[in-house]
Amino acid sequence: MNLAFISHPDCLEHRMGAHHVEVPERLHAITDRLIASGMEMLLTHYDAPMAEREALLRVHDADYVEMLFSNAPHASDVLTWVDGDTAMNAGTLNAARRAAGAAMLGIDLVMTDKHHAAFCAVRPPGHHAERHQAMGFCFFNNVAVGAAHALAQHGLQRIAIVDFDVHHGNGTEDIFAGDERVLFCSSFQHPFYPGSGADSQAPNVANLPLPARTDGNAYRAAVEQTWLPRLDAFQPELILISAGFDGHVEDDMAHFMLREPDYAWVTRELHDLAARHAQERVVSVLEGGYALSALGRSVSTHIDELIGQV
Ligand SMILES: [Zn+2]
Repeated sequence: MNLAFISHPDCLEHRMGAHHVEVPERLHAITDRLIASGMEMLLTHYDAPMAEREALLRVHDADYVEMLFSNAPHASDVLTWVDGDTAMNAGTLNAARRAAGAAMLGIDLVMTDKHHAAFCAVRPPGHHAERHQAMGFCFFNNVAVGAAHALAQHGLQRIAIVDFDVHHGNGTEDIFAGDERVLFCSSFQHPFYPGSGADSQAPNVANLPLPARTDGNAYRAAVEQTWLPRLDAFQPELILISAGFDGHVEDDMAHFMLREPDYAWVTRELHDLAARHAQERVVSVLEGGYALSALGRSVSTHIDELIGQV
């Protein structure tokens, strides 16, 4: 069965200024690489719908959601900063609603057996967005909106969210810490932005802080020892991935030394887990990844393993 590839042209209209690294070209780098590698033929494209307020309010506070809806600038050349590195332009609100809506559609598609897996090529990313706060290029927490939708609309009891972005998924942890229907696993460079996660106490959080210069071998060993037994014991009915590729050795956003085979490996492990427990259901949502060539190659590898035979 081929893979659902969910995106939307609106996700290209969110821009945070000439010198910002979180740029629309990230999505072009992904689609260009998928065409060049021949992977394109294995994808079914879907337009991401806009998440409605009701869906956003499952994981965000009402006054925060209203602030984003009402602060969105209308003039095309205006930026409204909501955090030190996070700004809204005229296209941001729709892009952010599409990004969250993509995760919801991906879940609907896998839960109704239209596809076993989905990849959401969306921006802005989401995993730093907390219940009440935008930060780190994120507005709505896309993967959390998706998980809450799966719990509310598909009656699931156990969802795993695995976040292999190089930064701690502080927003996702903020939203789900203590909610034992969700097992949240985040690996990240530590100490590093945003500084959280190394001493989390919540029983449903399996954080994996790793030092700068962590390479593929060290990363795989840590995942094997900590996440995989925990995920197997949890027996998730659905696996969501916060898929950030900024731990790539070519990405100077951070200081991990991962390469495409490492992203392939972790994806294959998650796919195998999904085959054991979740009828192969995996929905992956793009987070970081700023070195354009490395991002395109890594996503292509990731998608190849999401499709792959178990
Ligand atoms: Zn990141």
